[in-house]
Amino acid sequence: MNGERSFAVRPMTDLNFQTKIQHGVMMLQPKCNMTCSFCITEDTMDTMSYTVAESLLRDFKRRGFSSAIFGGGEPFFWPHDLKSILQFAKSLGLTTQIGTNAIKMPHDLASWNFVDRWVIPIDGASRDVHNGLRKFRARHWDIVTHALELLQIAGKSTTISTVLTTVNRHEILEIGEYLRRLQNLAKKPFLHAWHLYRFLPFGRGGRINRQHLEIPQSEYETLVRQVRELNLPFKVFKRENMQMSKTVEFYWVESGKLMAQSGTRGVIEMPTPTISNRS
Ligand code: SF4
Repeated sequence: MNGERSFAVRPMTDLNFQTKIQHGVMMLQPKCNMTCSFCITEDTMDTMSYTVAESLLRDFKRRGFSSAIFGGGEPFFWPHDLKSILQFAKSLGLTTQIGTNAIKMPHDLASWNFVDRWVIPIDGASRDVHNGLRKFRARHWDIVTHALELLQIAGKSTTISTVLTTVNRHEILEIGEYLRRLQNLAKKPFLHAWHLYRFLPFGRGGRINRQHLEIPQSEYETLVRQVRELNLPFKVFKRENMQMSKTVEFYWVESGKLMAQSGTRGVIEMPTPTISNRS
């Protein structure tokens, strides 16, 4: 596509892998229109071509995955046809999820029936705390809460993601109550789950902000327990380190190679026997 390097993905079944992976996360490209202090995205990631994305999705299907999750960076910055790749994933029978910071949320999201779930970040119960974890985006709290209202009205299944840090730990329970109100005010429940991520000292944000943001493991555990005790009207998931998950695998392109990472196999280079330049 567009003269970029692209390659076909050899089915992993060729390699006789027996894994329990169910969910494939496609990290489409690293760019983002925001700068979060906890961001674990690596700038070394390349943009995934449309062809590779298509091949990966076919491979997910062959391997019996149930869902494809589209992320980045910010997936709405992917220079290829995001709508079309989501529709392709749906046509294969995969459940589709998209993780976005909501800044470029489509105005016609009600008609995006090829997205089964939206994943949106909320990192504070107040503007100051949520925005304080981001640079150059003083309005992000307003943007993201507006996006949640739109998702609520449209009845779109939504997952909330929160990274627990020294900056927002005192507001975690308040975020829970805010989300409870949103769910209770909806015509039909639209919040599917709340994912509580442990801060990881990786990537372009996490690596340099460890000292400033990391909370002790024991505190993370306590906060997750306290949130669960709220008995919220949606599922609460403890997400300590998704890169170590046995059921989720991440895919990205780096230095022209397709890479994969999961708790089962660590970081591996995917077989890429057919490399071609297409225009
Ligand atoms: S964590 Fe923030 S900066 Fe990083 S990709 Fe997500 S929205 Fe962008």
